[in-house]
Amino acid sequence: MTEQPPVRTTTPRQVRPAGAPADTGIRQVRPKTEGWQQAKDETGRPLLQFASPKRGKPPVHLADLTHDERVAKLKELGLPGFRAKQLEKHYFTHYTSDAADMTDLPASGREELVAGMLPPLLTEVRRLETDRGDTIKFLWKLHDGALVESVLMRYPGRITLCVSSQAGCGMNCPFCATGQAGLTRNMSAGEIIEQIVRANALIAAGGLGGKKRDDHSLDRVSNIVFMGMGEPLANYARVMQAVRVMVDKEHGLGMSARGITVSTVGLVPAIKKLADEDIPVTFALSLHAPDDHLRDELIPVNSRWKVDEALDAARAYFDKTGRRVSIEYALIKDMNDHAWRADLLAEKLNARGRGWVHVNPIPLNPTPGSIWTASEVPVQNEFVRRLNDAGIPTTLRDTRGKEIDGACGQLVATEEDEAAAAVTPVG
Ligand code: SF4
Repeated sequence: MTEQPPVRTTTPRQVRPAGAPADTGIRQVRPKTEGWQQAKDETGRPLLQFASPKRGKPPVHLADLTHDERVAKLKELGLPGFRAKQLEKHYFTHYTSDAADMTDLPASGREELVAGMLPPLLTEVRRLETDRGDTIKFLWKLHDGALVESVLMRYPGRITLCVSSQAGCGMNCPFCATGQAGLTRNMSAGEIIEQIVRANALIAAGGLGGKKRDDHSLDRVSNIVFMGMGEPLANYARVMQAVRVMVDKEHGLGMSARGITVSTVGLVPAIKKLADEDIPVTFALSLHAPDDHLRDELIPVNSRWKVDEALDAARAYFDKTGRRVSIEYALIKDMNDHAWRADLLAEKLNARGRGWVHVNPIPLNPTPGSIWTASEVPVQNEFVRRLNDAGIPTTLRDTRGKEIDGACGQLVATEEDEAAAAVTPVG
């Protein structure tokens, strides 16, 4: 269940950096009466969980393996290597893991083969629809009972799936429902890919609404955002295996790398590693504050890597890949939405050159009962205007999925979800 943050006992000083431009005159103060206390480790630093707690691993799935490893595994089973290609086609093109659909495989041993290569990974517990059926949130149970979610959204000309990469999250961001629950475990590449395959199966069966008659978008997921549960770069190897499967045209889903957005709260060494991969995914840095004073609190990982280090790594990503970087900025009322912070953000981005970055402010989706709530519309507009005026392309993102708690920072299993999961058998 989502725990409410405990009441803050002290209020940090509101500090405006020297030289920061004057604000708009709109009264903006930090809430004083409610708040939270950051969980700390024994050395007094904000508690962060980088290592996945030890739990039983999910069964190895076709999507966890490279094509060569799939062939090798089949050969070990005494089967010809070309069966790998047949299984890939069934799974990545026809979105099925059902042996009964695979009549091109020999009947004898088919069930065992499919059970071994395509074991069930996600059991659907609940499905919630909103926006007239063109936004769907799935709640999945993993083999060990851990719960994760994904959100499917149809937009004009594209279909986006917001995927989870970890069950829970160890980054402890105080405004985020997922962060309040801690890290349960890393997800496997197979579990990440299965979210897409299951969404594609639903779309193919006509289960996603919102399609207009003149909408010629492909009838499958075209865009992936790693903005569900988890910090993707804290689960680097499995997330990258999943990305390789997504973009593999011959042996995977054949998606465009540009349509895949990998986001992070700022794990700088992993950003550098990502830049060295030869996969031009879109990179998004969830910044949420341009000054360390505030970001140390909002994004505890800032205690390891500061704003300037994260921005330098983001700029280096652009230099290496030529891909424009996105800066995500959840606008939180009276917390980080001050006009001078917009100016400071613009200043820091412009200091690193022009044309390399785009800012996406998004009104925060409040955790119920919390002080972490969305900025007011005039404040949002002023924030966006200042960035645009400073020459930083800035677009206010919509908060699709809000009604079903499916927007970023809201993916967390509720008591009701847990109850539904308890009566859902795995498999
Ligand atoms: S905002 Fe992202 S990184 Fe922070 S706790 Fe939530 S899911 Fe984790």
